[in-house]
Amino acid sequence: MDDDATDNHPDTDPQAGEDHAVVLGAGMAGLLAARVLAGRFPRVTLIERDELTGDGPELRSGIPQSRHAHILWSRGMRLIEQMLPGVTTKLVEAGAALLETPRDFLWLSPADWFQSVPGTKVLIAGRDLLDWTVREEVLRDGRIQILGGTAATGLVAGPDGRSVAGVRLRDAAPLAARLVVDATGRTSKATAWLGDLGYPAPAVTRYDPHLGYSSRYFEMPADPARRWHGMYVQSRPDLPRGGVLVPQGKDRWLVTLIGNGEHAPPVKDEEFFAFARSLRSPALYDAIRDATPLSPATAFRSTVNEWRHYERLERWPAGLVVLGDAACRFNPVYGHGMTVAALAAEALAKEIRTLDPEQIAAASRRIQRSTTAAAAVPWQIATSEDMRYAVTEGPPPDRATRILQNYMSRVMVGANADPVISGRFFGVLSLTASPNTLLSPATMIRVLSKWRLPTAPDTADYPAHYRPAGDRA
Ligand SMILES: Cc1cc2nc3c(=O)[nH]c(=O)nc-3n(C[C@H](O)[C@H](O)[C@H](O)COP(=O)(O)OP(=O)(O)OC[C@H]3O[C@@H](n4cnc5c(N)ncnc54)[C@H](O)[C@@H]3O)c2cc1C
Repeated sequence: MDDDATDNHPDTDPQAGEDHAVVLGAGMAGLLAARVLAGRFPRVTLIERDELTGDGPELRSGIPQSRHAHILWSRGMRLIEQMLPGVTTKLVEAGAALLETPRDFLWLSPADWFQSVPGTKVLIAGRDLLDWTVREEVLRDGRIQILGGTAATGLVAGPDGRSVAGVRLRDAAPLAARLVVDATGRTSKATAWLGDLGYPAPAVTRYDPHLGYSSRYFEMPADPARRWHGMYVQSRPDLPRGGVLVPQGKDRWLVTLIGNGEHAPPVKDEEFFAFARSLRSPALYDAIRDATPLSPATAFRSTVNEWRHYERLERWPAGLVVLGDAACRFNPVYGHGMTVAALAAEALAKEIRTLDPEQIAAASRRIQRSTTAAAAVPWQIATSEDMRYAVTEGPPPDRATRILQNYMSRVMVGANADPVISGRFFGVLSLTASPNTLLSPATMIRVLSKWRLPTAPDTADYPAHYRPAGDRA
């Protein structure tokens, strides 16, 4: 089916909506979409359900994941910097850490410890700081305004009943728009709203790893003997428990514990520490056992990979695009959601570069497809890894996926032993390099030359390049 299948967008309200784009949700996907749309629309309105104080970074109920560790991979960082020049410096000045992975971490992979070698950059900050800083930069553009404390409740149909001509709001008059972008995240009602316009529900693919998060802030004074800046003890199917320790500004750290199914991490005080102690390495527990807790632990359990295939619908309304977690969300443990939001914004920018608002509305179906394409690689990474865990619910792996899983186990072994493979692995994981990099003959030869090394070895408590202070002579 070609793009003519986009249902026609009539000129519904020439006064109110024709030069206007509305973006629902001021999370990362919505903010970046608004930034891009302001290049073609003279007016862009961001509608956000949460009240926004505007006073600084805030933990708000619409983004409960803000209380859990967030990393922004180099690809996402570069794209956001291109869209908002200077934002990286502002984030670092406000306390974000710009680190080299795996060099600056103690990182135990499902196979073994990574060496202390360069790989790719990663930006680590509280999600509240990330959102606040990006929002401040986006709102510098006078074409963009934001309405906080305003919930979208449905779509306004054009006179033909099939196209989208605006959005309904709770306790406010509807807003006319040439284009509506739904970026309301995983609680998006786009499927129901489309149903009200007579469109069928999209197919949905789900893989639920039943992964739980439990996170808690700690204070740890600076320590010159500490030569790492973050830590990640990964789980693996034979012990589906892991944990990450990331900096959150001066002396403030965030621990996120993770586990699948019955291994979901607890929130009670002693149980939190006991869980940290039960990981594949004692390194994370050793780091926090004398640290000062700054908060109770908070849990998060909704970590399903879910792709609502709007891009496959045979008919699609002019004037609507669904972006970010609202279209496709991932098990967050791979840290891809914000980078995918940035990739979708980049795809949107390419699609609309030469179009006027009316043409953009008419091209909605094509835009829906190309923005969604950004999800393909991270989806494959997340679901093929999650399928290794017995507790994961979803379609079983096909033969190609099983071959890929076996090969990726060898890549992991190779990446722990060989800095060249490690560099290529992090290129792919950060969504900077194509997965084909790992399938090139040169990489395959390097990977397969380590065939004698086991894929699930017994591992040392600490990597060879680091010994905790108490162990030093
Ligand atoms: C526990 C956890 C950890 C994560 N860790 C990482 C990580 O390390 N790295 C990474 O890149 N990604 C991570 N992610 C994913 C990341 O949070 C999202 O993928 C990314 O922010 C894109 O989200 P979004 O903007 O589509 O939705 P969200 O960030 O969920 O934002 C949606 C916004 O829409 C608003 N909203 C909802 N309904 C309405 C409505 N009806 N009207 C108006 N506004 C509405 C909400 O209040 C919210 O502000 C993690 C996710 C979780 C759950």
